[in-house]
Amino acid sequence: MAELRFDRVFVASRAIVDGAERPCAIGVRDGRIAALLEPRQLGSAVRPETVYVGEDEVLLPGLVDTHVHINEPGRTEWEGFDTGTRSAAAGGVTTVIDMPLNSVPSTTTVAALDRKRESAAAQAHIDIGFWGGAVPGNVAELEGLHEAGVFGFKCFLVDSGVPEFPPLDGAGLAAALAETARLDALLIVHAEDADEIASAPAPGGPVYERYLRSRPAAAEDRAIARVLDGARATGGRVHVLHLSSAGSLAQLRAARETGVDVTAETCPHYLAFCAEEIEDGATQLKCAPPIRGAANRERLWDALRGGEIDMIVSDHSPCTADLKRQDTGDFAAAWGGIASLELGLPVIWTAARGRGHTLVDVCRWMATGPADRVGLGHKGRIAVGADADLVVFDPDAEFVVDPARLHQRNPVSAYAGQRLAGVVRQTWLRGERVDLAGATGHGRLIERGRRE
Ligand SMILES: [Zn+2]
Repeated sequence: MAELRFDRVFVASRAIVDGAERPCAIGVRDGRIAALLEPRQLGSAVRPETVYVGEDEVLLPGLVDTHVHINEPGRTEWEGFDTGTRSAAAGGVTTVIDMPLNSVPSTTTVAALDRKRESAAAQAHIDIGFWGGAVPGNVAELEGLHEAGVFGFKCFLVDSGVPEFPPLDGAGLAAALAETARLDALLIVHAEDADEIASAPAPGGPVYERYLRSRPAAAEDRAIARVLDGARATGGRVHVLHLSSAGSLAQLRAARETGVDVTAETCPHYLAFCAEEIEDGATQLKCAPPIRGAANRERLWDALRGGEIDMIVSDHSPCTADLKRQDTGDFAAAWGGIASLELGLPVIWTAARGRGHTLVDVCRWMATGPADRVGLGHKGRIAVGADADLVVFDPDAEFVVDPARLHQRNPVSAYAGQRLAGVVRQTWLRGERVDLAGATGHGRLIERGRRE
């Protein structure tokens, strides 16, 4: 055998490789996976350092979270690049794509994208890329943003919660889709229909059932139908964000069968919680679309099993504690968003293994699936040529969520006090260990279609 020379080697009795769990030795050179070997094949390979993964631990690919709101600049008190990416690393996430809204300015122009990149550059503990925003009147900006390397464009079909990022109406959606189709860019949609929500009963007060009725599944289903119609008409590539209504699975399936390029994601909170168990005043669980009933939740799990939902991403959407209005428990007044970047893996693992799923499934949903949809074929997998983004995970260790110990900026968590299975022991980014206590990180800014 030719001499093997690596910077570092990982030896694991359990690693998730090629859709299976198996023993593996991973040779890393220049930040990339240079070789996958049987541990006994290592022989005299030259390596200054060997990382032995424990018998009770599993080596996973670093997770890829394509739905994260970092909020810097502009609302840095909600979350920032330092705390947000540190939190990601602590949760086994090695790549995030940041959403274009809740920061000020929103990422709807190249100048705003440049501001984000300046803010992020010196603070990134993991790799970070950016979505652009499609808002009324900025169609002419999309090409420039696309060329500057955003991973696609986000739009809303209903009020976004922040005034600087308004929703698209029918004509605006058509125009955005025509342009993203021309650019071959992905359009990602917050799919709730404004008219349906306007005609639903208003939310108000601490009764969860009332909040739930204010954002009915019909609003999601109708908005998704509009997105699918638009994709059919333009040939554009679309992605449904944070799917909560299982009632839309059939139309998504039908669209795919007729060749529409559509994917869908769901989030940990739609899979872990159900409306029947949400107590009145529990505004830590307010999000939009809302968490629905238990039967709906099980249909989301079935869709993940069958591949009809492509990925699970956090929709990490933090705010300061006061904005959750826990004093009054008023669902109308509270900020809608759940911060779970650091907890997504144990939350999903805990819920998934109870339903007979494996870590192979979890890696498909939380690493490979999202990476593939945004064109990051060198992320989210343990494979020769991929970035050596690796996570040492103890699947059987348990912990109780203490919000004060999370790395995110604000100690607000929908999972506070929950006992979860699965502890991230180490996170490695491009072959280097992420130091969670380090003043600075070695994360990079990434762009669509370009490899560092
Ligand atoms: Zn979001």
